[in-house]
Amino acid sequence: MRFAIPLFIVLLLLSAIVLTSGPGQARLGPFRVFGAFSSGDTAGTAATPTIQVPDTSLATQVPAPAPAPAFAAAPIGQRPYIPILMYHYVRAVDQAADPLGYGLSVTPNQFAAQVEWLRRSGYDTIQMSALAACIHGEGACPARAVALTFDDGYIDAYTAALPVLQEYGATATFYIVSGFVGQDAYMGWDEIRALRSAGMEIGAHSISHIDLTTLNHDENVDQIARSGAEIAAQIGAPVRSFCYPAGRFNAEIAAITRDVGYTNATTTVQEGSQDDLFALPRARIYGDMSQEGFQATVAAYLP
Ligand SMILES: [Zn+2]
Repeated sequence: MRFAIPLFIVLLLLSAIVLTSGPGQARLGPFRVFGAFSSGDTAGTAATPTIQVPDTSLATQVPAPAPAPAFAAAPIGQRPYIPILMYHYVRAVDQAADPLGYGLSVTPNQFAAQVEWLRRSGYDTIQMSALAACIHGEGACPARAVALTFDDGYIDAYTAALPVLQEYGATATFYIVSGFVGQDAYMGWDEIRALRSAGMEIGAHSISHIDLTTLNHDENVDQIARSGAEIAAQIGAPVRSFCYPAGRFNAEIAAITRDVGYTNATTTVQEGSQDDLFALPRARIYGDMSQEGFQATVAAYLP
């Protein structure tokens, strides 16, 4: 009974959308994806009147990105578990001076050793949208891969993580807080576009990193849909992957995330099944994690 009322509200809103969608108007649905070329798309129906996909004229000038690194596919019908690793910063932090920041950071050397070990041990890396396609039965599943995810869009994603990923031919998914882009310590759109061009996936992480469980329905639609739409316009590519700020979400928020067009969303739940694409657990990689601890974390999911 815990979800009875939110589910009722969602059903009520969905029926309102269906009733007010005339012919020629796009309905919100699981197959809608934020696109760079959808500025004529009337995504804002009755339930989402304020959402506009920004002008994409600049985005269309972005060169096509390099193809994402491929992974070795599992035999048809097999879906091995795909550990999803959660990172924030790749930087050196003084543990005594900033214990919280230290816990959220791995050093460039730590990160290089981790990715080097993954590649040497035969793990491929997979982007979140490809992981979702595998779980949804729409794409190949990797035989033995991990997904590397980076939250918040800090500048060291570009200056420190990207060189390591490129050195080892790895890919990752970077979740951007659209309203923080260009602020002190965060990447600007040029760096984010460069990540994309280097074969990384760019996902959305809301507009302002607010706890979504404190917002009403329309505010959530705004935070979830408009962040993805702006990022899509800026990078000139669809945005399919979302990450709940601070991992805070509920059934209604997950339903909104699905309905506005994402194919998957990650949480901060440490472990669990990957059957629910909008409640995907992730293993947190800590700053004080030893190399052995890192290897054991990955191997515990996928030996
Ligand atoms: Zn975050």
